[in-house]
Amino acid sequence: MRALVTGGAGFIGSHLVDRLLAEGWSVTAVDNFDPFYDPKMKRRNLEAHIDSEWFELIEADIRDLESSDLTGNYDVIVHLAAKAGVRPSIQDPVGYQDVNVRGTQKMLEIARVLGVRHFVFASSSSVYGVNPNVPWREDDCVLLPISPYAATKVAGELLGHVYSHLYGIRFIALRFFTVYGPRQRPDLAIHRFARLILNGEKVPIYGDGSSRRDYTYIDDVIEGVRRAMDYSTTQYEIINLGNNRTIGLLEMVRALEGVLGRKADLEFLPEQPGDVPQTWADVSKAERLLGYTPRTKFEDGLRRFAEWLQSYADQA
Ligand code: NAD
Repeated sequence: MRALVTGGAGFIGSHLVDRLLAEGWSVTAVDNFDPFYDPKMKRRNLEAHIDSEWFELIEADIRDLESSDLTGNYDVIVHLAAKAGVRPSIQDPVGYQDVNVRGTQKMLEIARVLGVRHFVFASSSSVYGVNPNVPWREDDCVLLPISPYAATKVAGELLGHVYSHLYGIRFIALRFFTVYGPRQRPDLAIHRFARLILNGEKVPIYGDGSSRRDYTYIDDVIEGVRRAMDYSTTQYEIINLGNNRTIGLLEMVRALEGVLGRKADLEFLPEQPGDVPQTWADVSKAERLLGYTPRTKFEDGLRRFAEWLQSYADQA
């Protein structure tokens, strides 16, 4: 089996590449090593595979990619490349739109031209925005996004519907809920806070600390992505990949202090525009369609993240 993984050098993408190669897939990763965070970290994510005959890395921007750059015969495209992050999208809405919407359209065109029949798309819990009906269900059409990033993910889901309808490409949008674990993006709270705590710097708490997130461990997410790659019952689905357990911001900080063995020096600051007060996934559809069951306890996942952070720092 052969997969094309966009954003394959990133946090989620590189874990998927590991998993697919371990299962005997042939994998082409496309990534432009964008400077949103240190590209050295992304190169390290892939270093174990760079010489593998089953692995190909194409360093390219998805917006410039043409079907002729690719050898074809992919069984599936997993499209993870994006400008990620809610807050920076408010500073650069046009850039986010260009990569996340036009870039997704380009990848769908490539799927059409190459005749790839299965397309998995990284959507986001942020599409629900300030929808108060928690836990969020995919059949609740009340999407109330409050950031440009979130709106680009809604657009990606809609583009997928068009291609699924017109060209019979099976399109599965996975709404990820705050993914954490080894290699997590450094802009995300767990990673950012861990570094601040270890350096003895102040940890900014935006708002009163009451915001809540449905944190999902990377291995559980990868299991869900893998199952979505095999799913073949219907042509278009949107599926939450969350954990169905929300954790308060201060609760997260306390748990992080526990695994790091250090106290955090908190600094309370005003709420940030674009940040939603809570995320909470109903995962019954993922269970029903994919047999997905998140298994990792938050403290266990945090411990594995902390171990990785330590080993990453030791190698630097
Ligand atoms: P990441 O930034 O680690 O990975 C994204 C990768 O895409 C990076 O390696 C980057 O270099 C690459 N990329 C960016 N723009 C590109 C372009 N124009 N052409 C080619 N490559 C490009 O982020 P991640 O956390 O692994 O997220 C993967 C996907 O999941 C993204 O689509 C993100 O929006 C989505 N998502 C992530 C989370 C999360 O909690 N991590 C939550 C919801 C959705």
